[in-house]
Amino acid sequence: MREVCPSEREVRPPKREVRPPKREVRPPKPEVCPPKREVCPPKREVCPPKREVCPSKPEVCPPKPEVCPSKREVRPPKPEVRPSKREVCPSKQEVCPPEAGGLSPQSPKNRDQVLAAAILQQCSRLNHQNLIPFGNCCFIHNRVYSNMLNYSERPYYSFSEYLKKKYPVKAYRVSLDAGFSCPNRQNRNSSGCLFCGEEGSRAPYLGNTDDIAEQIRRSVAFLKSRYKAKIFLLYFQAFSNTHAPVNELKAIYDFALAQASFAELIISTRPDCLSPEKVELIASYQSQGIDVSVELGLQTSHNATLELVKRGHSYEDFLKAYHWLDDARIPTTVHLIFGLPHESQRDMLSTVERVAQLKPHGIKIHNLHIVKNTALYEMYKSGEFQAFSWKEHLETLIAALEILPPETVIMRLTCDTLPAKLAAPLDFPPKARFLQILEQEMTQRNTWQGRLYHH
Ligand code: SF4
Repeated sequence: MREVCPSEREVRPPKREVRPPKREVRPPKPEVCPPKREVCPPKREVCPPKREVCPSKPEVCPPKPEVCPSKREVRPPKPEVRPSKREVCPSKQEVCPPEAGGLSPQSPKNRDQVLAAAILQQCSRLNHQNLIPFGNCCFIHNRVYSNMLNYSERPYYSFSEYLKKKYPVKAYRVSLDAGFSCPNRQNRNSSGCLFCGEEGSRAPYLGNTDDIAEQIRRSVAFLKSRYKAKIFLLYFQAFSNTHAPVNELKAIYDFALAQASFAELIISTRPDCLSPEKVELIASYQSQGIDVSVELGLQTSHNATLELVKRGHSYEDFLKAYHWLDDARIPTTVHLIFGLPHESQRDMLSTVERVAQLKPHGIKIHNLHIVKNTALYEMYKSGEFQAFSWKEHLETLIAALEILPPETVIMRLTCDTLPAKLAAPLDFPPKARFLQILEQEMTQRNTWQGRLYHH
């Protein structure tokens, strides 16, 4: 080996001294991210005005941007905050989804479509083989099962609409007090049903005369001069108009019918005041070209209430009389009273349900009037029961109309009493106003007569 000169060793610099220290070589990191506060623009107002936001959709406002808008995560505000009509908050009435397959509740045409579909469905369930749909009617065994499109003016089939369809010009009833009494009163001055006033359902405008010919002459003359009336319906209204032997009844009916030209004979009575012979007599006028119908007082189907108000007949008496009339093909109108003492709304509606199953030609529903100087008035004064308020009557009526057959004619929905004789209720709206409220309520609730009727 060669010997290295010591001087050579000294020439080499020591390695460690040549390398610069690591830390000094690296340049300091540049500042790449500017301070946030200086870059972000001020927050913007992204929420829409409060009025246009649906309360049922709480997330209409986008979240407030906490990050710089230049970064992707930040959502832009939604351009459309007002949804289309159908999606608008259900708290707004005009956008509530209509019932019955999306048909508008307001349009009579659409309501009729719903009714027509419902009746066809019912008919086919009843008797598919014999179902003959004809226009808007259904016939089963040649009998009109239903004509659900009878009414279009109101959410129920009113008597005036029925008359309009039946006669070419307006027809008028001529009310008559033929001097009958009632088996529930020994005479006109004794008491009968607790609610019965001294007039016994006699029309207040009849005046004092008992003369049948005079009553008819006056009424017809008045209707002709005031309304140019041409069609008249003779209406035996006061007390029980079958409360006499058959031969007497015939004499009275014949005499009254001869006083003017009448298209119809309407007889109001009570169930225990009919017999097959009397029914036969009434039916016989049909062969003379005069339409006949009978109004039958039931008031309630609950025998306990019938006893309480001293009606003097039972629900079974009513059924017997009703079937005599039905068998003789005499159209029958049933009278009911809402608000009788101690009856609940459920009681009243169960009466309506029973009557609905009979499919009567017509129905009259009165709200209970407490007339001064009656036995009912004494009960009321002693606090035994409360008067039926107009709001209770309204609610019960709507529920009743819903379960009645659509083809049953609604002859009356309120009661008339002279103000001087009425003790309660005193805050009932005038009849026209009440019917207007009823109509508005039913339209608003998208309901109508027969909507819940089940055969
Ligand atoms: S049945 Fe008629 S007329 Fe006879 S007492 Fe009763 S309400 Fe009066």
